[in-house]
Amino acid sequence: MGWGEGEALALTMTIEQPRAPLTPNRSPGSAGGTGAKRVDLLQRLATHTSERAAAGLLRRTRTIDHAEGPWLEVDGRRLLAFCSNDYLGLAGHPQLIAAFKRVADDEGVGSTAAHLVCGHRREHAMLEEALAEWTGRERALLFSTGYMANLGAMQALLGRGDLCVQDRLNHACLLDGATLAGATLKRYPHGDAAAAARQLAVEPGAAALLATDGVFSMDGDRAPLRELATLCRHEGATLMVDDAHGLGVLGPDGAGSVAEAGLGMREVPVLMATLGKALGTHGAFVAGPATLIEDLTQFARTFVYSTAMPPALAAAALAAVRLARTDGWRREKLAASIARFRQGAARLDLPLAPSDTPIQPLLLGDAAAALAAATALEERGLLVTAIRPPTVPVGQARLRVTLSAAHEEEHVDRLLDALAALPRAHGQAPV
Ligand SMILES: *Cc1c(COP(=O)(O)O)cnc(C)c1O
Repeated sequence: MGWGEGEALALTMTIEQPRAPLTPNRSPGSAGGTGAKRVDLLQRLATHTSERAAAGLLRRTRTIDHAEGPWLEVDGRRLLAFCSNDYLGLAGHPQLIAAFKRVADDEGVGSTAAHLVCGHRREHAMLEEALAEWTGRERALLFSTGYMANLGAMQALLGRGDLCVQDRLNHACLLDGATLAGATLKRYPHGDAAAAARQLAVEPGAAALLATDGVFSMDGDRAPLRELATLCRHEGATLMVDDAHGLGVLGPDGAGSVAEAGLGMREVPVLMATLGKALGTHGAFVAGPATLIEDLTQFARTFVYSTAMPPALAAAALAAVRLARTDGWRREKLAASIARFRQGAARLDLPLAPSDTPIQPLLLGDAAAALAAATALEERGLLVTAIRPPTVPVGQARLRVTLSAAHEEEHVDRLLDALAALPRAHGQAPV
């Protein structure tokens, strides 16, 4: 098997069905102290894995031995990668590395405690300030990861009996956030603001959060943010945008998809974004009104009860924010690569999705076809991730091509040449 799904596949976009026990939890009259026989949890889980293997959907981690810009060394081979989220090519930038080293030298590595204990260092405070200023919000609050930021914010905002309306293709952690908060989760068809309106209207009395990805992580298209903001204003619902893939890439100075849509703090009071994608580092934040940040400081459990990120990491992320804001040429180079890829792919009649962001999925339909394509590309020295169910809906398996400012024109051309050489699946229709 070729390059399966690595990091991207830690995400589960679809909600996995609650797994029914394979055998009853208790069978009266069987042996044991209380007359009950328990199901062995490890065995049950192993059975689910076997089922997934039988369906050809097993996932595995591959170890990258060395990374240098878009080049990765895997199993003794140097491969040109089109699967990282390092959209601006900042992950290996000398200024990030220098900032990281300087603070690690001076302060050590670990923050040693949660923010509210004694883990909140000057580097965190400076980063929060820079993020708030960049996104045009009063304040920002750091979290250890995007997953934790969404869980924490949603669990603080929502409770039982509340309504959480979400795009069907939202990231897994937004879905989990609503579910774990005990809210009633309703999912509307992708990008359909009218359907979202109908779902909100069903429970006009319930407190409601409408949550959406700004840029959809597996599709690369944008949410209809202005329509959703208008809807939320009419319905008295709160709008939350997860801009993991928009920050650094879209909008004035890379301030993200919300800034690009011209929406301020009043329209989008809850703005979340990550530092592990275009900013090339790790971690995440929620930005918004000072009152919201104060409230999250009290009630977001994933903030309160989790160790602060290493201060050296915060310093590296601050260097990344500065570069992302000022190096407009990175966004221009990225845009040129996106255009070059799309033109080439259109000439080849490849099943391109309608996206103008660095996420350029090629929709192949069947999971086996996506995996075969990824394997064929790898044989030609290219690493592109096949994304299969349950990360995407059944029948919508794809190659998730991602582009970066670290790619040169000849890299994009090499990818197009390799895609041109792929055997075409019979009856495969362009999108
Ligand atoms: C990657 C991602 C996250 C999770 O962020 P991590 O920092 O990787 O945990 C959340 N939302 C979206 C839309 C993402 O793409």
